[in-house]
Amino acid sequence: MAEPVEIPLVERVEGASEPLSLFAALVLWREAEASAAAARGEEMFMGKPDAWYEDLHWFCTNGHVSGRFLKSEKRGDCCLACGERVIMGPAIGEREFAPILSALKSRTLTQGEEK
Ligand SMILES: [Zn+2]
Repeated sequence: MAEPVEIPLVERVEGASEPLSLFAALVLWREAEASAAAARGEEMFMGKPDAWYEDLHWFCTNGHVSGRFLKSEKRGDCCLACGERVIMGPAIGEREFAPILSALKSRTLTQGEEK
């Protein structure tokens, strides 16, 4: 059997008592943004709004936002600035992303666990 693939933690954290990792919180935020776009009637592809593919923005847990990322066989999609994993999201810049990330951090109860 193949090695299990690393999947987003969305389902695993639903109702879980364990602390939410910041990356998982980031994924949840992205999914909420995608759901909101779908609810507004935006055209979707693979669960994400078409607009996101037309103006690519990749986000990491260190607050970096970039139109590019490093594709790594070992670690998946990585931030060019810091090497952390990235996920694709809505077309917003680092300035707009900063308060969102702060809010996500306040939702994660990790203590000394973050890098
Ligand atoms: Zn980064």
